[in-house]
Amino acid sequence: MKKECTYNGCVHEEVINRNTWMRILNVGHERDVNKGGYADSQSECVKFWCGPDNKPKDPYWERVDIRRCELNYPRSYVGGVYGEWGEESNEVILHFVIMPYEKAEVIVGEGFFGSIFYEGLGKAVGDFVSDADLKWMISEFEKLRKEAKIGS
Ligand SMILES: [Zn+2]
Repeated sequence: MKKECTYNGCVHEEVINRNTWMRILNVGHERDVNKGGYADSQSECVKFWCGPDNKPKDPYWERVDIRRCELNYPRSYVGGVYGEWGEESNEVILHFVIMPYEKAEVIVGEGFFGSIFYEGLGKAVGDFVSDADLKWMISEFEKLRKEAKIGS
């Protein structure tokens, strides 16, 4: 992570072409969580939610009871890819911000908002992000990118 990044919780960055980013956002709408997909496209962000059959390969996720709640399918929030207009007119900097709330709650054993005292230290949800979480996010993002390329 670059020190100057202002996106709180950013664990990975990529630079992509603006047109590609716009197409990825469109594909995200088609792969919406409420249509059985794992994406939730917003104006400059794609959020990713995992499900019982598609989640990060992290043992803690096995303990998360992924429920439907207000969505049409059982899903649990993993994180978002936020696009920031770059200095070059045709590029966008992507910030991968991972916030696995329900996994963090399984680890600490209780629900929390903001921060919690755990194993003697103050922790925020971002402290519970694993390599598997990031790997899953990148893999889901790549699925959208691949579809965006096919559709162009
Ligand atoms: Zn960043």
